Order: sequence, then structure tokens, then C-alpha cells
Amino acid sequence: MDFSWTDEQMLWRKTVHDFAQKKIKPRVREIDSNKKIPKEIIRDMAKLGLLAPTVPQEYGGSGVDWTMACIAAEELGRADISLAIPVLYLVETAWGYILSRYGTNRVKEEYLPKVTSGDAFCGIAVTEPTGGSDIVGAVSTEAVKKGNNWVLNGEKMFISGVAESNKWGGVHLTLARTDSSLGYKGFSFFAVPLKDNPGITVTLLEDMGRMGISTGGFVMKDVNLLGDYLIGEVNRGFYYAMEGFSAARVLIGATCVGAAEAALEFGIEHIKTRKAFGRSLASYEGIQFPLAEHYINIEATKLLTYRAAWVMDKMYRENKFTHHDVAIAAAISKLRAPIHAFEVMNEVADWLGAAGYTKEYPIEMGIRGVRSYSIGAEGTMNIMRIIIARELLGREFLPYNK
Ligand SMILES: Cc1cc2nc3c(=O)[nH]c(=O)nc-3n(C[C@H](O)[C@H](O)[C@H](O)COP(=O)(O)OP(=O)(O)OC[C@H]3O[C@@H](n4cnc5c(N)ncnc54)[C@H](O)[C@@H]3O)c2cc1C
Repeated sequence: MDFSWTDEQMLWRKTVHDFAQKKIKPRVREIDSNKKIPKEIIRDMAKLGLLAPTVPQEYGGSGVDWTMACIAAEELGRADISLAIPVLYLVETAWGYILSRYGTNRVKEEYLPKVTSGDAFCGIAVTEPTGGSDIVGAVSTEAVKKGNNWVLNGEKMFISGVAESNKWGGVHLTLARTDSSLGYKGFSFFAVPLKDNPGITVTLLEDMGRMGISTGGFVMKDVNLLGDYLIGEVNRGFYYAMEGFSAARVLIGATCVGAAEAALEFGIEHIKTRKAFGRSLASYEGIQFPLAEHYINIEATKLLTYRAAWVMDKMYRENKFTHHDVAIAAAISKLRAPIHAFEVMNEVADWLGAAGYTKEYPIEMGIRGVRSYSIGAEGTMNIMRIIIARELLGREFLPYNK
């Protein structure tokens, strides 16, 4: 076992770290207030290869592995604890990869070079107004084959990046029923462009955090797609979606680790200098003990997250491990990282006293942002627990044994 980073990984971390600390961190409050990521940051990220870097080079990506992708996610989370830029990064990195793996040449050539250059967005649309956890019970969007084309009707809700996709162009990988009689084996995956698409109506929601990236929904009314916009094979959509969710969950883990590290470092600086009762806050055990506990939690989560990335790299590059192994490793990371990040931010807010409740300090942006992941973006905490319990108990103990 070797816990050291390679020279390439260290150089990549330093490159992303220096860029993010210099160009992103000073602008996080502005991004949170203006509710958008400045285009020049997107352009700079593209120049550095930070937009969907897992996409192969032929489509403008860098073809990096998941460990490298997580290093960038961690550094982006460290710089932008509101998590807006990390969300843009991780959604495109996970779902751009799925598109590059299963999409048709036509769709890949049309969209991926624009995603990696920052001229288009690539997102995921599974959740519907009726629910997100119970995909089989809640997803009623339907795709019907008409000649060579597909016609989609339905509604997606709580979807990241709909405003960006609607403005810049791009696609949301959208789950739809193609055979209602087959349960989860009756879903297919489609690349749905939102911009200038006559059958699409986009709605926006006002989130509590990660304000720089939009969340909303879209209604599909007789959306007509060429056959090329089907991703992979008919009725395999559920599997592609689960593969992408695993990737996204590991990146979420890395992002939350970075944001937690930033919050703890911020808190440490404060407790070393702030005095109460004649001594620095850092000299009180009542402050030191939680500091130690939060540090342990972050370190443990970091190990779990990079192990998950390692399992993914072994699966994709060496054919060791399976999607099942990846799903469990990813669920563990997704379950721990947002919770620990939230807890450390909450603690640091306490250390800051009244200042922790103001917008003078970045902690409140972190608390609002990271809550999106403990509430359920890319899967709720209970769904992560169900994935892990299913492993320990077997599928027959699931409440739904379909
Ligand atoms: C900021 C944000 C961005 C998002 N972006 C996207 C996106 O880009 N694309 C997308 O498709 N979706 C997205 N989502 C939606 C997300 O995937 C869903 O919120 C999530 O899957 C949960 O679905 P739900 O909100 O309908 O909650 P529900 O499924 O209704 O669940 C409600 C509660 O019940 C619990 N629960 C459900 N079933 C069980 C069970 N069997 N046992 C125990 N507890 C259970 C859940 O854990 C949860 O706490 C986003 C969500 C947020 C908050």
C-alpha cells in the first residue's frame, strides 16, 4: 500500500490550487451575490483543462483518471466553499464522461468540444416533481419511437444547470421510460438540448445556496429528437445513470473534503488570534477537542474518497473491481463528506461568534452550499445508506425487491 502522490498528481494539484486560490477564491462572495459564475472564470478553467477533464482529448478534454479529477474537485472546493464552481465542475466531469462513453459520435462531436471549452453545459435530468429517490415509482417521462426519431413528454425538476444550458446551449442527459412493463430495465437515456428547443419550457427555482449555478426544471412537450440523441442502448438508461451518479458522488466527496479543509483552516487562524478571558481561544480544550475530532473526520473522509477514486481507476483502466464495488465506495464517500463538511463549518461558525452569522465571513456560504449535498443532490443520505445496507444484507431485504 502506498499513500504517496505521484509527481504528476502533485503538479496537477499545485496548478489547480494556485489558479483557484488566485482567480476563484477572491470572487466567491461576488459569485454568491450575483448568482452567476463570471464567464472569464469559465474561460480560464477551460484553458487549464478544468471543464470535464475526464472527457477524452479528441473531444477537447484531457482524459484524466478519477484520482486526478478528484484532486481538482478538492482544490475547487477549497477555493469556492459556496460550491457553485465545484458543482459546475463535477456535474460536467461526471456526465460529460458518460456522454463520451456511451453517446453517438454525432452528439459527442456536436457537444463535448463545446462543453470542454466552456461554450455549452452538460447536465443530468432524472428527478421529477413526483420524486428522485424512487426512480422506478416516480419517473414518468416517456420516450416513444416515431420512425428514426424519439418523442419525449414529461417534466424534470430540481435539475442543476438548466439556466446555463438554456443560455449557453448543451445537453441534459435525461432519463425516460421506453418500456413501462420492465421496471428499472425499461428506462433509456437521451441527450436533450434545452436551448432553442421548441418543446422545452424551463423554470427556475430560488435555492438557499451554491447561488452561482442554477437549479430548476423543464417541461418536455412532444420534444422531437433524432435517433442519434439516444445514449447507448435502448432500455439501458438506468445503468448509465447509476454509473454517472457513482462518479459524481466521488467528486462530491472530494469537493466537500476541500471545502471542509478550507473551513477548518479558516477556523484555526481565527482561534489562534481571537482572545477570550485573557487567552487565545485555541488554548482552551473546549475548542481543541472538537478541532481534533473534525480534523480526524476530514482525514477519514479524504481517505474514503480517494479510495473510491482508486477503485474507479482500477475498474476503468485495469478491469479490476465492478460497478457494484464503485457504487458502494462512492456511496460511503457521499454519505460522509457532506455531513462532516457541514459539521466542521457549523463548528467554525461557533468559533467566530456573532461574526459567524454574518456575510462578512465565507462560512455561511459554505453551510448553505454543502447542505445541498446532505439534503440530496445526486442522491439522499438514506439512499446512500440503502446502497450500503443492500450490500450487507442482500437485495431480498430491500423494501422494494424489483
Ligand atoms: C441543489 C440540488 C440540485 C439537484 N440537481 C439535480 C440534477 O442536476 N439532476 C437530477 O436529476 N436531480 C437533481 N437533484 C435532485 C436530487 O437528486 C433529489 O433531490 C434526490 O434524488 C431526492 O429526491 P427528492 O428530492 O424527490 O426526495 P424524495 O425522494 O421524496 O425523498 C424525501 C426523503 O425521504 C427519504 N427516503 C426516500 N425513500 C426512502 C427509503 N426507502 N427509506 C428511507 N428514507 C427514504 C429521502 O432520503 C429523503 O430524505 C438536485 C437536488 C438538489 C437539492
